[in-house]
Amino acid sequence: MRIANLAGRGVFVLGGEDADLQAAEIAAVSGGRFGPDLGQIYQHWDRFRSWAATLTPDSMHTHAFPLNRALLGAPSPAPRQVFAVGLNYREHVAETGFAMPEQLPPVFTKYLSSFSGPDSTVVLPVGGHVDWEVELVVIIGRELHRADPEQIWPAVAGVTVGQDLSERLQQFRGPAAQFGLGKSFPGFAPQGPWLVTPDELADRDDLELGCAIDGQEVQKARTGDLIFPVPQLLSRLSHTVVLQPGDVIFTGTPAGVGMGRDPQRFLQPGETLDSWIEGIGTLRQTFVAGR
Ligand code: ZN
Repeated sequence: MRIANLAGRGVFVLGGEDADLQAAEIAAVSGGRFGPDLGQIYQHWDRFRSWAATLTPDSMHTHAFPLNRALLGAPSPAPRQVFAVGLNYREHVAETGFAMPEQLPPVFTKYLSSFSGPDSTVVLPVGGHVDWEVELVVIIGRELHRADPEQIWPAVAGVTVGQDLSERLQQFRGPAAQFGLGKSFPGFAPQGPWLVTPDELADRDDLELGCAIDGQEVQKARTGDLIFPVPQLLSRLSHTVVLQPGDVIFTGTPAGVGMGRDPQRFLQPGETLDSWIEGIGTLRQTFVAGR
């Protein structure tokens, strides 16, 4: 099942290729029982899944209309908590020069005002060094506290593609760095194009992900290479915090970021960044100069 945020309303995504993508409003299909607010759908995710499992293709197609990608927003647009994780792929740890994490990778946040949908124009902060980080993003469907790794996937609503855009000068400024602020300029957390439930994926623990600038590939890896895979990562987080329905977790980026290159390379006005994850979909960001 694929769920999208279409102009703030929850929709089922129907159809295969981009050309014939269709949407059906969850509120219409459910006769008002679920949606249109996505936060409400995540809040009642188990009940929603049970109901959705009873739907016939006809019951959705009756309400179907062409899906306009330009209207898509982040699949969980107003989570109570957003977590992002650094240093979670070995080759990326090596390119950054940091030590390998042992108990937990570094955890920080991306503030909500940085959220956007999958297709966007991003303003580059003046004088900044804006870098790319394609990431698997997990959205929670059931509260998790002190959970074991085996309890994690059944409590995940779904996954989506995310870019953890990062302004490196701000990120590392000051005596203790500024990860949250450096990664939270407007448009720095594009996500989508939709949530995919884990059962739709051939192997939820081993998905290819990557990104390209103006068609030139800069990152390519597999989530099977995560140092802390989704079950271990979320289990460990849940031993400190309570993960809540709708919460968003950026799981870390693989090698190939601009900061790790010699010479370093950052995003320039006019460039386009395409990001993808196997079995989920693509994001497209175009960058313009700030004033
Ligand atoms: Zn990141």
